[in-house]
Amino acid sequence: MDLTYTEDEEVFRGQLKAWLAKVLPALPPAPDPLDWPGRRAYDTAWQRMLYEAGYAGLHWPADAGGGGATPTQHLIFLEETERAGAPYVGANFVGLLHAGPTIAAEGTAEQRARWLPPVLRGDEVWCQGFSEPGAGSDLASLRTRAVRDGDHYVVSGSKIWTSHAEVADWCELLVRTEPVSDAVPKHRGITWLAMRMDAPGVTVRPLRTLAGSTEFAEMFLDDVRIPVTDRVGAENDGWRVTMVTLSFERGTAFVGEVVACRRTLGELARTARDNGRWDADPALRRRLGRLGAEFAALWRLTQWNVSESQGGGSGADGSGGGFGVPGIGGSVFKLRYSQARQELYEAAGEVLGPDALDLAHPWNQDRLSSLSYTIAAGTSQIQQNIVAERILGLPKER
Ligand SMILES: Cc1cc2nc3c(=O)[nH]c(=O)nc-3n(C[C@H](O)[C@H](O)[C@H](O)COP(=O)(O)OP(=O)(O)OC[C@H]3O[C@@H](n4cnc5c(N)ncnc54)[C@H](O)[C@@H]3O)c2cc1C
Repeated sequence: MDLTYTEDEEVFRGQLKAWLAKVLPALPPAPDPLDWPGRRAYDTAWQRMLYEAGYAGLHWPADAGGGGATPTQHLIFLEETERAGAPYVGANFVGLLHAGPTIAAEGTAEQRARWLPPVLRGDEVWCQGFSEPGAGSDLASLRTRAVRDGDHYVVSGSKIWTSHAEVADWCELLVRTEPVSDAVPKHRGITWLAMRMDAPGVTVRPLRTLAGSTEFAEMFLDDVRIPVTDRVGAENDGWRVTMVTLSFERGTAFVGEVVACRRTLGELARTARDNGRWDADPALRRRLGRLGAEFAALWRLTQWNVSESQGGGSGADGSGGGFGVPGIGGSVFKLRYSQARQELYEAAGEVLGPDALDLAHPWNQDRLSSLSYTIAAGTSQIQQNIVAERILGLPKER
């Protein structure tokens, strides 16, 4: 394990910082957080700027159109863009951080050529159609059916909690191609498809969150025809492909946010000093200090994961190799990070005092949305099961 940066990596950091200092002041103001078409336009315009500067998909392999950067360079990229206050991936989240990497790892040459460049350029936005009303943590229970009809699948069913569905062009969709039976356990018979969101038979109905946002939606699929060529992986082998997607989702997708949380923590301490709560409340000081240690440890854990994977990654301990599939170590990170984020915004409520009732304050918006972090991308209980069974080797729950 080596947590230091090489000279070349520092050169890379310097060039990136110089580019950010040049382009960020010229960015238009960020759109209203509840304006999803506006956010899509903003996020994809930023993606196009990254693309033109050679920073798009930095961690994707070069033969998938990415930068072929080392995991450490990618980490530096996340660290510096966040520090400089650059936009985050936003609406490009699924395309850049899990559908894209899954297609890069599992897709055919034609599929990579068709789908990856538009993601990198910010031309096409993806969403994730995995969860269903009866299949969340127990994802393999999904029931959306796909029946083969010549060179198409005909898909019917419904999905729920589909983030960015309203503004997406494509959906990474899990369907059942083989009914569950004595001979077919539920983890078999699942297939990973790419579905056009404007295909006839797709209906999107937005859902409103506690914070008032329509960031996710229900999706109803009524005899949607999807070409067989838009299947990633073999028919009925979708569960294995899904594990690849989920390991990306839990592995690297939240890394940039740790930097943002550390910045927010500094702002909380400064605000507490200014409004007198720092001097008046020793328990709050202790709480902020403990959170500082927690986020420092999370950042070190991230660096450690990157350092391990850069060395080629054994896979056996859950770390992937280079861009390769990140492993179950991502569950440890996701578990602790999502809880620490909630604690951070609870502390923000303490710092704000009566202003914690002002819903327009961004910390209060973030406080409400932080509640979803221990549910989205696999709940904390599910991550604990993974850590217990696959890292600690404890007996299976059933
Ligand atoms: C903000 C947000 C965005 C999301 N975006 C998407 C998206 O874009 N696409 C998508 O497909 N899905 C998305 N989801 C859905 C998310 O993946 C599911 O909510 C999650 O997997 C949990 O499933 P569920 O809601 O059905 O809860 P359930 O699975 O019904 O779980 C209910 C409770 O039971 C617990 N539980 C369940 N099984 C076990 C077990 N075996 N052991 C211990 N405890 C257990 C859970 O931890 C939870 O506390 C999103 C969710 C959120 C909150």
